[in-house]
Amino acid sequence: MAAFNPLEFRQHFPFFQSQPDWIYLDNAATTHKPQQVIAAELAFYQQANSNVHRGAHQLSQQATALYEDARETVKSFLNARYREEIIFTSGTTAAFNQLAFGLMHSLLKPGDRILISTLEHHANIVPWQLHCLTQGVILDVVPLDSQLMPDLEAYQALLALKPKVVSLTQVSNALGHILPLQQMLSAAKAAGAITIVDGAQGIAWQVPDLQQYPADFYCFSGHKLYGPTGIGVLYGKTALLEQLKPLLGGGEMISEVSFQQSSFAALPARLEAGTPNIAGAIGLATAIRFLRQFDAKLINQYKGKLLQQFADGLAAIPGLRSLTQVTQSAGILSLQLLNEHPNDLAVLLNEQKIAVRAGSHCAMPLFASLQLPGAVRFAFAPYNLPTEVEKTLEALQAATDILR
Ligand code: PMP
Repeated sequence: MAAFNPLEFRQHFPFFQSQPDWIYLDNAATTHKPQQVIAAELAFYQQANSNVHRGAHQLSQQATALYEDARETVKSFLNARYREEIIFTSGTTAAFNQLAFGLMHSLLKPGDRILISTLEHHANIVPWQLHCLTQGVILDVVPLDSQLMPDLEAYQALLALKPKVVSLTQVSNALGHILPLQQMLSAAKAAGAITIVDGAQGIAWQVPDLQQYPADFYCFSGHKLYGPTGIGVLYGKTALLEQLKPLLGGGEMISEVSFQQSSFAALPARLEAGTPNIAGAIGLATAIRFLRQFDAKLINQYKGKLLQQFADGLAAIPGLRSLTQVTQSAGILSLQLLNEHPNDLAVLLNEQKIAVRAGSHCAMPLFASLQLPGAVRFAFAPYNLPTEVEKTLEALQAATDILR
């Protein structure tokens, strides 16, 4: 593979041709889509639109083949063992809601414990809470150490309480920190827990090899990986997926239905009730094929260089404090302007057409534990350029001059 060329990568994204004035650093919220992905969705609707798994006609068979091919693409991308282990959802949030509902109504019993970390997104907190009280299940939280990483000693102590489920994010969306999951999940498995990984941010950093990875479940959203919104994946080991009570009932997911009772279809249909996001699945598979043309290691090195350039420049601007340890980060840096609300900074950057996110980043308990109102997040993608970093630093300098 050739050396990574950010300008060539960027050319695949029509957004930057239509909006050349914008510097887009909100990639942790969602990424832009390459032309191939947009074209694949369009082509489906223009040429093959039909529902899946139900029509006798050729168009439906073609749509079904495209949809099931997309599943195969995801399976090989993650190196899952079986295609049935790939469940299409509308995103990470939907995957977690299925997991929480499914586990709470099957394997978990009153008095059982679930262990998460302080760095979790609301998607890995609220779905558990929706059931904890009624099911009598206890949610434990690993505190942070001084580097704003999970405190591993405290983690070991909480594992000694024998949680039934350990559910951790691969990468913190709020700070960018990469969790030491190989170590943490292996310890969780040794303690007998079911392990879940929130890969919403991590998938664009390091794609797991699921046959080597100590995770029983892995979830991600297509739109953070240059794919469409409204499509995501819940991966699970077959034996566990089979035990999950379906959150959604309806068409497609059944075997037999009477007015007295229903029996369910085999995986993956069992957990995919209703008409799926067919075009979205095709778009996601196209995004995966697009990404596979590039060397992930080189992409990460490049993102690391942008981040370092940004961090070096920040050091020269008084009043700014980075919450992120750059060497631990997957291309994200969150910062604060002392004594100012993060929104003020983001508003001034928006006036310079620099897109960032400010606030608590769907991680309110994290910011509560830090006693901070939130942060301004800069999330880099491989289509960002060193010149954009320079301009952002200049805009930050100007903004801090106004605010201080
Ligand atoms: N977990 C993490 C770490 C995230 O960053 C996000 C998206 N911000 C989610 C879960 C939820 O993803 P989605 O909104 O695509 O369902």
